[in-house]
Amino acid sequence: MDSSSDPRPLVGEPLALDLLNTVRMVDGAPADLLATTDGLAAWLRAVDLTVRPREVVRAALVETRHAIRGVLSDPSDRGARMKLNTVLGHGSLGVSLDSEGHPMRSVRVDEAAYEPAVFAAYSLVDILETSPDRIRTCEHPSCILWFLDTSRNGTRRWCSMATCGNRAKAQRHYNRSHTGGGLMPMT
Ligand SMILES: [Zn+2]
Repeated sequence: MDSSSDPRPLVGEPLALDLLNTVRMVDGAPADLLATTDGLAAWLRAVDLTVRPREVVRAALVETRHAIRGVLSDPSDRGARMKLNTVLGHGSLGVSLDSEGHPMRSVRVDEAAYEPAVFAAYSLVDILETSPDRIRTCEHPSCILWFLDTSRNGTRRWCSMATCGNRAKAQRHYNRSHTGGGLMPMT
């Protein structure tokens, strides 16, 4: 796939977080990639899912996104948990050994339209099992992107150093040069 047509603001994240990141801030307002089936089609292509971009697929994903965000924001949110469990109920886990004897896990889905939503929900379960304390949101105040902190020390703060990290650095620099008085060079 041509990477320039990847509509995701951040790549390399688990599918559950990719799904959350379909809502991002554009010019100070949230923009939803899944608001249209065209956006949905672009997202499905980017995450390598071949299901046809129908309205029922879009609706399942939007609902699942809401549930994932709810569970991550407040693990005691019963409504979000139940919604997520309903989505998980559309899938089942198959476990087997491959030809070299390595364990393999695969997710089966009862309805094709639910495949992306179920995969995203399973992806969340995966992260919750392996590294729940590494799920983060970007620290930049005007960014709402999620990421999994895979840095060795768990100190990643930004969705991307190139964008939010630098924006924050520039802001700190600006604050430093505009406070304290008397040290500003005359222009
Ligand atoms: Zn960010």
